[in-house]
Amino acid sequence: MARRKKVYEGKTKILYDGPEPGTLIQYFKDEGISSEAPVTSEAKGTEGKGVLNNRLSEFFMTGLNSIGVPTHFIKRLNMREQLVRMAEILPLEVVVRNFAAGELSTKLGIPEGTALPRPIVEYYYKDDRLSSPMVAEEHIVAFGWASQQDLDDVVALALRVNDFLSGVMMGVGVRLADFRIEVGRVWEGDYMRLIIADEISPDNCRLWDMRPVIDRGDGQPVAEPGPMADVYTELARRLGVLPTNVTHSPKPTLIN
Ligand code: ADP
Ligand code: MG
Repeated sequence: MARRKKVYEGKTKILYDGPEPGTLIQYFKDEGISSEAPVTSEAKGTEGKGVLNNRLSEFFMTGLNSIGVPTHFIKRLNMREQLVRMAEILPLEVVVRNFAAGELSTKLGIPEGTALPRPIVEYYYKDDRLSSPMVAEEHIVAFGWASQQDLDDVVALALRVNDFLSGVMMGVGVRLADFRIEVGRVWEGDYMRLIIADEISPDNCRLWDMRPVIDRGDGQPVAEPGPMADVYTELARRLGVLPTNVTHSPKPTLIN
């Protein structure tokens, strides 16, 4: 049997050549969190995480496609793999922030949890050796990583993704404090357009649970809203995409 060709192995995913030219298969691993970039998730390297992120990214990308925000997602193939459109990834991590957290709080002295007056879009140069430093539009255009027109399109896409994701999360009692996306170019004849690529999952979203934990005894909340416990399983459960028998318990599981 011919083995398929591995194109790239990153921290959280493996890319294989897809069945048609211009397609790739993304395999979701359990290990790793996506990057050094500012958005981090609570859990790392948890059993079953890849299976859940495959489902969650499918869920978000399908929703985006259906409201006319183009993404690379074509279809899910199995528990850990999805078929995507190959794109030329811009060397940027695009972050959208709605509430102060992480470096925005520590560097600018804005208390964690503060609602921002408007969504703030930031760019980080995607280079692990440099720990993905924050860059300005000036750097991006001057060094030719993207054009000014590209960046205008990136901001428009990022804000549409933000509105969609914020609304979906709000519907299940979750606050989207910030998130990170990657954007890529695809060509249709001579016409180029930008699409959302990579993944949308708890690995690149900062999510706060707005449903306080209730003590069964007296009905009083025992915890304030805060970071979501068991975020992969809990989000998949609330969104109704939890595959049966998959949670990322620390016990060995038989999912491949
Ligand atoms: P990394 O460690 O670089 O974050 P990942 O483990 O997330 O890598 O693997 C995914 C890799 O695939 C990333 O480098 C990402 O830029 C790239 N990628 C994601 N979607 C696409 C796509 N549609 N076409 C080409 N490359 C993609
Ligand atoms: Mg990544």
